Amino acid sequence: MPRRSTSPSLYSPLVHLYLHVPFCQRRCSYCDFSIAVRKTIPAREYVAAIQSEIAQENPGSGTGDAGKSFPRYETPTIYFGGGTPSLLPPEAISSLLTSLLDAFAKRFSSTPPLDAFEVTLEANPEDVTPSAAAVWRKAGVNRISLGSQSFDDRVLKWMHRVHDASRIGLAVRTLRTAGFANISLDLIFALPAELERDWRRDLVNAIALEPEHLSLYGLTVEERTPLARWVSRGASSAPDDDRYADEYLLAHERLGLAGYGFYEVSNAARGDRISRHNSAYWTGKPYRGLGPAAHSFDGRRRFWNKRAWEDYRKAIKAGESTVESEEVLTPEQEHIERLYLGLRTIQGLPAAVVPSDRRSAWISAGWAEESDGNVRLTADGWLLLDLLVRDLTGSTAIL
Ligand code: SF4
Repeated sequence: MPRRSTSPSLYSPLVHLYLHVPFCQRRCSYCDFSIAVRKTIPAREYVAAIQSEIAQENPGSGTGDAGKSFPRYETPTIYFGGGTPSLLPPEAISSLLTSLLDAFAKRFSSTPPLDAFEVTLEANPEDVTPSAAAVWRKAGVNRISLGSQSFDDRVLKWMHRVHDASRIGLAVRTLRTAGFANISLDLIFALPAELERDWRRDLVNAIALEPEHLSLYGLTVEERTPLARWVSRGASSAPDDDRYADEYLLAHERLGLAGYGFYEVSNAARGDRISRHNSAYWTGKPYRGLGPAAHSFDGRRRFWNKRAWEDYRKAIKAGESTVESEEVLTPEQEHIERLYLGLRTIQGLPAAVVPSDRRSAWISAGWAEESDGNVRLTADGWLLLDLLVRDLTGSTAIL
C-alpha cells in the first residue's frame, strides 16, 4: 500500500513530538479519551509499534535537511500523554527516548542532548515509586504532569480514580527526591453539587505541594462515559454553569495570590514554567504525533492515526499506514482557529484584529484588556471564550 506523506515529519525544523500511550487500568467516570483498558500492559508490543512508526519515516529522504545541524531556535519538546504513560515499565520510556534521539542523529549532523528538550511524562500518582521516578529522570524526562484531580477521597472514588488523596503528596515528594524540578498537577472543577466537593480546600492542598504548574479542567459530560449514563438516568446531576464560573474565578484568585499566572485559559504557572509543548499547540506551531489516535499538524493540514489501539497495532503489523484520516483547513477555518488560539492564551490578539466596537464593548464589560497593542481576555472573558470567538466571526452578537 502506498504510504501517505507524513509531513510534518519527525525531522521538521520545529520539533514538537507527542507519543500517545493508550493504556489505562480502568476508565474514569468522565473520560472519553481513546484508551485501551488492560490489566496487563503490552509494553513490548507498544514500544516496537512506535519504533516501527518512527522507521516508516525514512530519514534519508524528504525535507532535504539531512546532515544539517538540529534546529536550535526554540525548545524542542517530547510529550508522553495518554492514557496512562506511567503504566509502561520505566525502561520502555528510556527505549522510546533513545529511539527518537537515534532517529534525529541519523538525520542531523548534530543533535542537542536530551536535556535541551522539555520531556514531559503524564503520570498517575499510584505509579510514582522511587525506582520508577529515578529511571524516568535518568532517561531524560524532566517534567511530570500528575493526574491528581482532587484531594477528596470520596470524589476520587466517584471519579473511578485508582489513587487516594495521600498518594498525591507522596508522589510529589518522591519526584522531588528523584530530581524533578518541574511538576504540574491536574485538577478537575465544577463537579456535581451533590458531591459537596470543597474546591477551595483542594486548591489550598494543591498549592501547599508547590507544583510549578497547574492545569484546571471544568467537568464536562461526554457521550458514552459512565458519567453520561449516570446523568441520563438521574443518578448524577450535570455540572452547572454558575458553579463552573464561581470555581474558575476562585482558582484565578487563589492561584494569583500564590504567585501563579494563567498563561492559557486552563493553565497556570510560576515564573517561566509554562508547558512549552502545549504552548506549541496554542500558538499554531507544527507538531507530530505518534501512537494510536495521535494527531499531527503542519500549519494547514492535520492528520491523525487510527484511534483504537487494536486497529493501530494491526496496521503496524501489516506494514500499512497508521493514518486514519486528514483534513486541510480552509482559509476561513484557519482564520477562526487563529482567533480562538489567540484569545485562549495570555498573548491575546493584535488589537487591529478585533474591531474597535467589539474591543470597547469587551473592555467595558470586564472581559478584556488592551495593552502593548494586544487585546487579552480576563478571567471573566475566558469564561466566555467560545462566545467571544463567535462574536468576532459575526456568527453571534454578544452585546
Ligand atoms: S487515567 Fe486519564 S486517560 Fe485513563 S481513563 Fe482516567 S482520565 Fe481517562
